[in-house]
Amino acid sequence: MVADKPADSVNDKLDVLKSTQSVIKKALDKLGYPGEVYELMKEPVRMMTVRIPVRMDDGSIKIFTGYRAQHNDAVGPTKGGVRFHPNVSEKEVKALSIWMSLKAGIVDLPYGGGKGGIVCDPREMSFRELEGISRGYVRSISQIVGPTKDIPAPDVFTNSQIMAWMMDEYSRIDEFNNPGFITGKPIVLGGSHGRESATAKGVTICIEEACKKKGIELKGARVIVQGFGNAGSFLAKFMHDKGAKVIGISDAYGALHDPDGLDIDYLLDRRDSFGTVTNLFKNKITNQELLELEGDILVPAAIENQITEDNAYNIKTPIVVEAANGPTTLEATKILSDRGILLVPDVLASAGGVTVSYFEWVQNNQGYYWTEEEVEEKLYKVMIKGFNNVYNTAQTRRVDMRLAAYMVGVRKMAEASRFRGWV
Ligand code: GLU
Repeated sequence: MVADKPADSVNDKLDVLKSTQSVIKKALDKLGYPGEVYELMKEPVRMMTVRIPVRMDDGSIKIFTGYRAQHNDAVGPTKGGVRFHPNVSEKEVKALSIWMSLKAGIVDLPYGGGKGGIVCDPREMSFRELEGISRGYVRSISQIVGPTKDIPAPDVFTNSQIMAWMMDEYSRIDEFNNPGFITGKPIVLGGSHGRESATAKGVTICIEEACKKKGIELKGARVIVQGFGNAGSFLAKFMHDKGAKVIGISDAYGALHDPDGLDIDYLLDRRDSFGTVTNLFKNKITNQELLELEGDILVPAAIENQITEDNAYNIKTPIVVEAANGPTTLEATKILSDRGILLVPDVLASAGGVTVSYFEWVQNNQGYYWTEEEVEEKLYKVMIKGFNNVYNTAQTRRVDMRLAAYMVGVRKMAEASRFRGWV
């Protein structure tokens, strides 16, 4: 039926797996790799679907669906977070695992990409139920994960407590204390200093570099942050500490705007563990209105497909830095880039999290721990190098920042896959 066509094409544009595959293809073509390299990289090499039974507080047993995708392990073990969210899908987890490979490539970590997810709503689950689902997930995927195979970490709606339960469950199965199985753990269980704020630290470094390129002074700049979870809340704090004016923030239920700057310390104090805070206020705007505010820097730090061809013409900031995974569609990327907006793509901007996860894993493996200053110094060097590589590739190859990031990100994985004789 003809009427179905537009709907399909809309769905295609929001299909994060299809979109990322098309950019991977372009990047490999630009770099001159033969078609079989794309055939290998367009999907994860391994994908596991599990059904996890959990005894709920009311005595009933509920079965949850979970996934673990391992995109490519030519460079090293796969690595990436686990998200707990009602909208988790197989396609999304696959795309997220590809993005993890790209991040590892851009910041030059000895990993391939992995990702996990469970279809559930942790906002409606008790502490005990969350422990059950976390342990059940690890039991289900234990054969394909491990410190030299695939190393999970936090992502949307998962945190250091969940990492601690997962580490404990894995250590029981493995019969020895195995902190390097997972990153993002509490410090007392072998977590790294600076891991919790690492994604936002990396985003901050990208914002500073982007400001230099655009001739914008960060002090006094108007910053809009969509999302108040791990990345968004720390970022709002860092921006505030650096003298920028955070004029807008949001959560899943709405957004707050004050052209004179919001009271970030108060908001941080009042947010719950899922980043919800706008429910305390009457004067709210919508997430859409937030994205279209006048300002200098826009940071989408929530979920996928927030900037689309429907609102990309209305974005008013000269800089967009993606702290979330996949917040901008490809059509919107083109519109922003044609409009001269500097877009720092997710696979670069949000790579600070996995970088400090790598530091955590290294510290676990060597059993010797670093100070927060050491972690920060190392993270800074890694992010600056990644930013410059991507920016310079965009300039010299005359491509947008997203394609440049993909070109930098796929190269090592493609080379490693070829040296191994896979393609
Ligand atoms: N979930 C984070 C990301 O999307 C961090 C992954 C990790 O630390 O392994 O980059």
